[in-house]
Amino acid sequence: MSMNPDQQLSECNHNYKRTSYMDWDEYFMALAFLVAKRSKDPVTQVGACIVDNENRIVAVGYNGMPRGCSDNEFPWQKTSKNKLEEKKLYVCHAEVNAILSKNCSDVKNCRMYVGLFPCNECAKIIIQSGIKTIIYMSDKYDYKIKTIAAKRMFDAANVEYRQYTPKNKKIVIDFNEINHTGVCYPENDFSTNESNCIEDGQAISNLSLSSPKKSKSIDDA
Ligand SMILES: [Zn+2]
Repeated sequence: MSMNPDQQLSECNHNYKRTSYMDWDEYFMALAFLVAKRSKDPVTQVGACIVDNENRIVAVGYNGMPRGCSDNEFPWQKTSKNKLEEKKLYVCHAEVNAILSKNCSDVKNCRMYVGLFPCNECAKIIIQSGIKTIIYMSDKYDYKIKTIAAKRMFDAANVEYRQYTPKNKKIVIDFNEINHTGVCYPENDFSTNESNCIEDGQAISNLSLSSPKKSKSIDDA
């Protein structure tokens, strides 16, 4: 949803720096949720994002079949009369896929953002990989023996874990937003009679942009 200019201005500080930007935790958790959208699992879509100490993303992953095991042939159902047709035998969890797809030599001392608290199998691999911190969104399976075992191992191995409390319930990605970005500051005395826009920290005459009257961000206010 677009904001009106007053709302946008109120979210800028004295040097017009935008103050409503995402913080790191929200950004990386949102990425974990975004990559989960790639999952083919009809019940649970989980994503994970691994970040190093300089806030660089070193890996993302989501729950899926191993390479070469076709999404269209291997089973996605949780239970089946034929035990060989249950997904748990095949699906790689997001945490493991992320660790194995890292774009650096190792993930020692990194932190992992993940939608669900890791299971015991992932916990083993997380510990062995050297990841030191888990930030998770949901612990809805905290009663399960797998989760209890995972926490037991994390505690023993000094892997920290903390639940993320989202600042916003939802983050909406509006692909059309890029077509009406820019905050107008009509009170600024620039060389043109037209109002001026601030975009990416620079003053830009909106003569080169769309007219504020036609700007969707204003029309939507
Ligand atoms: Zn797992």
